Amino acid sequence: MGRVQEILETMTATTANIAGVVEKQKQSGKKIVGVLPVYAPEALVHAAGMFPAGCWGGVTTISRAAKYLPPFACTIMQGVMEFAESGVYKNLDAFLVPAPCDTLKAISQNLIYACKDKKVIIISYPQNNKMECAVSYTKTELAKVRAKLEELCGQKIPDAKINESLDIYNAHSAAMMEFFKIVSAKPGIVSAVQRHALVKAGYFMLKEEHTRLVSDLNKLLAEAPAPSWKGKKIVLAGIMAEPNNVLELFDEFKLAVAADELAQETRQFRTPFPQGNDPMERMARQWQNIECCSVVLDAEKKRAKHIADMAVENKADGIIYCQMKFCDPEEFDFPSVAEACKNRNIPLLNLEIDQLSESTGQARTRIQAFSEQIGA
Ligand code: SF4
Repeated sequence: MGRVQEILETMTATTANIAGVVEKQKQSGKKIVGVLPVYAPEALVHAAGMFPAGCWGGVTTISRAAKYLPPFACTIMQGVMEFAESGVYKNLDAFLVPAPCDTLKAISQNLIYACKDKKVIIISYPQNNKMECAVSYTKTELAKVRAKLEELCGQKIPDAKINESLDIYNAHSAAMMEFFKIVSAKPGIVSAVQRHALVKAGYFMLKEEHTRLVSDLNKLLAEAPAPSWKGKKIVLAGIMAEPNNVLELFDEFKLAVAADELAQETRQFRTPFPQGNDPMERMARQWQNIECCSVVLDAEKKRAKHIADMAVENKADGIIYCQMKFCDPEEFDFPSVAEACKNRNIPLLNLEIDQLSESTGQARTRIQAFSEQIGA
């Protein structure tokens, strides 16, 4: 097996055995913190020497979560509550929960009730992030998170350690952005499923370890010849494009992912922590720099233009807006995205993502029709 396949299989194997990965970290004596979407100060968990594990839902059948959430809550959070109730999160010591939307606000409280043995650490970011007072507010919130993590790990987290972790996270983000750039230029060099597995594995590995593997892969992919590609290129927008069955359809219908603006993927990596000595200032300024995102105030609707620009810059043939079922922030943004695409003559598909279900009947029909529309 070549090194490229070996790295890709490591990523796939990690995502296929999340419980095992977390169990191993637990047995090594580490405290485990479940990190919820969309943006959480995960680098503080890393700086405290604890293991951050992503909690972005998953395929499951909802039964116990129904006592916390109405059926019209987004499917990611229904999955999170089902896992919380059914013991899937048994190895976690705490949750780190940002609250940028109404559903996450409710989840932060639900987790306190459902998981009485775990600490629930909540951070409330100012959604109007451009005002200068937002920076001091964010620093106050970050200080509270830091203090709670210090209680959990039983020691102070020094500034130097946080700065070190921020640099590790910046290096990871740079490696991820480089990976996206390389695979965009060589459609077909990795499948949509593999591209996603590489991103997702990063939620269950220490960032330095993941960066090392991604950097090795980048070097090999950059040197490899571009495969002959007969399909079309698409941009994915939205929160996430799971489960894998949906991604397999992109591969089946010869739609290569040229770029994404998914919250679970590129949105996590495109805004680095600025340099500086004060780590809390660096983190607060990073929040201030985030733009074009459905959970941050975007009064001028810059996100719509940003998504259309991504399609043009990456020479994509169309955009698939992966509409997470019952996600209000994403639904609010869709009309402006549709208008931006219409103005630029970019084909657009609004594809409902139900993360809980592995059934792909509807998605298959819609993706097939879209692929025919754009000539794949
Ligand atoms: S942003 Fe959307 S998908 Fe994410 S938690 Fe909120 S409602 Fe759910």
